Amino acid sequence: MAKKVIIMVRVNEYMPRHPNPHVPFTPAEIAETSAECEAAGAAIIHFHARKPDGAPSHDAEDYLEIVERIRARSNLLIDSTLGQNTIHGDEKRAAHIVRMGESKVRADLAAVDVGSTNLDVYDAQAKRFRTTNKTYVNTTETCIYLAERMREAGVKPHLTCWTIPFLRAADALMDSGVFQQPAYVQFAFCEGGILGGHPCTIDGAQAFLRCLPKDKRIEWTVTCKEGNLLPAAAVALENGGHLSPGIGDYPYPELGYPTNAKLVEFFANLARAWGRDVASPDEAREMLGLPQRATQAA
Ligand code: ZN
Repeated sequence: MAKKVIIMVRVNEYMPRHPNPHVPFTPAEIAETSAECEAAGAAIIHFHARKPDGAPSHDAEDYLEIVERIRARSNLLIDSTLGQNTIHGDEKRAAHIVRMGESKVRADLAAVDVGSTNLDVYDAQAKRFRTTNKTYVNTTETCIYLAERMREAGVKPHLTCWTIPFLRAADALMDSGVFQQPAYVQFAFCEGGILGGHPCTIDGAQAFLRCLPKDKRIEWTVTCKEGNLLPAAAVALENGGHLSPGIGDYPYPELGYPTNAKLVEFFANLARAWGRDVASPDEAREMLGLPQRATQAA
């Protein structure tokens, strides 16, 4: 039987509510979305804590409240952000993960970006860059520090790769024992004028695939910042990869500005049409080497 597809829904990032009004901000909205997305075929929810007005929240208590509320409404695996490039300083970035470890109200997974890249947006119509100094910096020291805090907290890192050098770093960090296998690796494609990652095209996805370490146990997934995931999804479905769509990344005008659940349903149907069923949260735990929920309770 064909390998099942793990769908991780990326519900909000720091996306505004226009043009797609369905982006969840509050803990209650994120929890409601988790229940709907589980019913639609998702196995993992990736979220960012937001204030009620949509501003980024870096308050550890907000993260704990969201984890508790999602657990109350769904069986989804929970994948937390580290605040991406909106927080500076390794200790601050890991603070809510450390707090999760202390409180035992913890996410299953959290994102670590295993390299650095430029995030300036190029406006092709105006023929100029909107900014010229936005670099997302993740030193190797930061990656090792975050990996250690996550290991202590009982949270598995999900390794985000924007370019092939990130993938090479992930390989080396697995090789040196910093990250454990099976690894959960996310290829982050970039559209919308962001040039710091691969384009979300068949070629952009195949470039990653050709450089995937052959001697490591890796479950890989695809996501696209500011663009339609379909080209990378096709490569993933054809080659044993997984899918990470979400209206946090892109409003999907092609699909009529759907809710996260409607978007998950679309990609779940696509996977089935491709001949691959979707993985349940428990099946995803098994594939990613995570403990089942009963044994995970502290
Ligand atoms: Zn995120």
